Amino acid sequence: MNPIILGIVVPELFWIAFAFLFGSIVGSFLNVCIYRMPREESVVTPPSRCPGCKKPILWYDNIPVLGWFALGGKCRHCKKRISWRYPFVEALTGLATVGTLYRFGFTPHGLVYLVLVYALIVVSFIDIDFQIIPDEISVGGAGLGLLLSIVWPSLHGVHTWVQGWQQASLGILVGGGSLYVTGMLGDFLFKKESMGGGDIKLLAMAGAFLGWKVVLITFLISPMIALIPGLMMIIFKKEHVIPYGPFLAAGLLITLFADNWLLRVTGIGETIRLIHEYRQWH
Ligand SMILES: [Zn+2]
Repeated sequence: MNPIILGIVVPELFWIAFAFLFGSIVGSFLNVCIYRMPREESVVTPPSRCPGCKKPILWYDNIPVLGWFALGGKCRHCKKRISWRYPFVEALTGLATVGTLYRFGFTPHGLVYLVLVYALIVVSFIDIDFQIIPDEISVGGAGLGLLLSIVWPSLHGVHTWVQGWQQASLGILVGGGSLYVTGMLGDFLFKKESMGGGDIKLLAMAGAFLGWKVVLITFLISPMIALIPGLMMIIFKKEHVIPYGPFLAAGLLITLFADNWLLRVTGIGETIRLIHEYRQWH
C-alpha cells in the first residue's frame, strides 16, 4: 500500500516506519494513562516521573522502547526496576498503529478505529491491574461514538444523521444488553456476580462506534478466547481473578479486522441477508 498524502505518493517502508514511531510515542502516553487513570491522577500533569523516586524522566530516557533498553530496565537515579510492560505497551501500540492503518488506510474510518484501538489497549491493562474499566473511557467513549455517528453517519455506512443515531443506539443496546443479560443469567445460575458493569459499558461503547453486528460477534467469540487461559488455570490448578475486559478487547479487534470472514463462517451474515430479503418481499 502506497498512500497518497498531500499529493505525494508515500513509499510503504517509509510510512510503516513513521506509523510505528508515531504509535510508540502514543504508547508512551498510554502508559501514563494506564498508570494514572485508575489512581485518579491527571494524565497531563506532571510530566512522566519515576514511580520510585518521583524524579522527572529525562527526554532521552523517555524515547519509546529504546529508552528502557538503554537504561537496562532501571531508573537512572534510584536504580529501581522499571517494568518490561512499559516498552511492551509502546511496541504494541506501534504495531497496532501500523496494523490498523494497513487494514483501513489513511481514511476517516481508519483514524476513528485507531483511537478505538488505543482506548482498548488502555482499558485492557487497567483491567489486568485493577479489575476495573474507567467510566471516562467506556461511558465517555459511548457518548463520543454516539455524537460521531450523528455528525458523521458514514461511520456506520448510512447517510442521514437519524440513521447514524439509530445504528449507534442499536450498537449500544446490543453490546451492553447482551452482556447484561448474560450477567443476570450468571448471577441466577452461579449465585455470584459473574459479569462486571465495566465489561457491559465497554461493549456498549464499542457498539456506538462499530454497530450491533460487530459487538454481537464479539459477544459470541470473546468467551472462546477467554477459554484458553481459563483451561490453563484448571490444568495448572492456579487461582487467579481473570478480568474479562482484555478478552472483549481481543474479540473486538479480531472482529474489526476480520468482520466479513467472521460474518460468513458464523452464518450471521447469511441470516442478516435472509431477513433483508424477507422484508423486501413482504
Ligand atoms: Zn527512580
